[in-house]
Amino acid sequence: MSRDAAEALRRVFGYDAFRGEQQEIIEHVAGGGDALVLMPTGGGKSLCYQIPALVREGVGVVISPLIALMQDQVDALRALGVRAGFLNSTLDFEERRLVEAEFVTGELDLLYLAPEALGAPSTRALLDRGRISLFAIDEAHCVAQWGHDFRPDYLALSMLHEKWPDVPRIALTATATTATRTEIATRLRLDDARHFVSSFDRPNIQYRIVPKNEPRRQLLTLLRTEHAGDAGIVYCLSRASVEKTAEFLTQNGITALPYHAGLDAGTRSRHQSRFLREDGLVMVATIAFGMGIDKPDVRFVAHLDLPRSVEGYYQETGRAGRDGLPSTAWLAYGLQDVVQQRKLIEGSDGDVARRRVLAAHLDAMLALCETVECRRTQILGYFGESSASCGNCDTCLAPPESWDGTVAAQKLLSTVLRLARERGQKFGAGQSIDILLGKQSDKVTQHRHDSLSTFGIGTELSESEWRGVVRQMLAQGLLAVEGEYGTLVLTEGSTAVLRKEREVRLRREAPRAASARVAKPR
Ligand code: ADP
Ligand code: ZN
Repeated sequence: MSRDAAEALRRVFGYDAFRGEQQEIIEHVAGGGDALVLMPTGGGKSLCYQIPALVREGVGVVISPLIALMQDQVDALRALGVRAGFLNSTLDFEERRLVEAEFVTGELDLLYLAPEALGAPSTRALLDRGRISLFAIDEAHCVAQWGHDFRPDYLALSMLHEKWPDVPRIALTATATTATRTEIATRLRLDDARHFVSSFDRPNIQYRIVPKNEPRRQLLTLLRTEHAGDAGIVYCLSRASVEKTAEFLTQNGITALPYHAGLDAGTRSRHQSRFLREDGLVMVATIAFGMGIDKPDVRFVAHLDLPRSVEGYYQETGRAGRDGLPSTAWLAYGLQDVVQQRKLIEGSDGDVARRRVLAAHLDAMLALCETVECRRTQILGYFGESSASCGNCDTCLAPPESWDGTVAAQKLLSTVLRLARERGQKFGAGQSIDILLGKQSDKVTQHRHDSLSTFGIGTELSESEWRGVVRQMLAQGLLAVEGEYGTLVLTEGSTAVLRKEREVRLRREAPRAASARVAKPR
């Protein structure tokens, strides 16, 4: 068995040696065992089911949610001489019949299926007519209801075990916390599966998270000083900001292309293939871009807006440095991000439980942004892996100072409290900051907020320092935002601070000039 596997690795794929745990996984599955494989993006998951499918009798059936990529995956396999086909909604009747016939007569090594296809009785009847060597369930975290990428169609995959108990199953994912891993095993009925958990560390990626002042300018500085001529991905939340950022970079002499779901399919695929083929191109995109993109020399991934979860952040930054060379993961993050994300959660459909999950995801992301500890330790800890400080992230390279922000926090909270108690009003962060700074703005004069007792009591901090205080307090749950306008409201934590029962530690923000540049990636 292991000779066949090593032979397939060399002869079909042209590689000399297995990577990481590949060999053990392949031998286990080729020998008929079930497996749950957790491996970071770029770790080499595909071979873990492709080689057993080649070695075993019958056709390997691969369940993958990435319909848009099936054609590419199958083309790539065929170019290597592997007999592969796929069934999904993009095929017409004739094409479908051809693939079905190939499956039944065993003329295929691998058949890719969309998860929804398995729900159809006709597909199940088809599978009964052929010989199946194994089931591979790709992106297995999609079965986790509390995960960040849940797809209801995945729930039906538990029937694979009931209907074909003798066919080995291998589930694979690049993102899974301990809780998600347990949920995958339960929902897919992988009771006897061996778990293969690779380290999630990507030591060549330097993680950096900076306060957001003028995001596009900050990005430009990063690209000019450290990544001139490099290929990279810039993630933005909205289509509009994707367009604006791509335009801004282009005007400043950087070859940048936009990518988002609002562009027509032709433009998207043109931009994607230019990114893959040309050197030094910057793709400015929403998170619609990147799944399954295999470009080894992406030197940086920059986020201009806060990702919704640590899983998402890890997956997106993981697209940098697949070739193992030094790369940068850079995120600019500000008060507005917290306000906006909380608003999105509040306005999202779904029940209370769902919203609570989204809020927990966001809280973990905020904790990563505000940490004074090693970023990598925090990220790996999130995935259940313990590690020492890395020496290759911003907090390791330039340890942030913390300061006692209790008095500042009390000043801010009593402003919010007074607006509510004395005036029956709620405002966004900007108004409270203006009041603390004693600014006679139009809105201050109009509402006579200059007569509040907290007016002008906060001049020891600058406006941007106050924004940092508000942001960090939101992240720590010492303050909350609500409603369409993101107005500030008090929490239980606020009460404790106001009653002097709780101290507030805050992270001192690096001065502007220094925040643009920490150190060269090693
Ligand atoms: P994943 O699905 O885990 O993100 P892939 O299966 O796409 O990763 O593999 C990532 C890259 O590594 C691919 O280009 C693949 O061909 C390559 N690769 C995988 N295994 C090996 C190996 N044993 N030796 C050399 N290259 C490998
Ligand atoms: Zn570190």
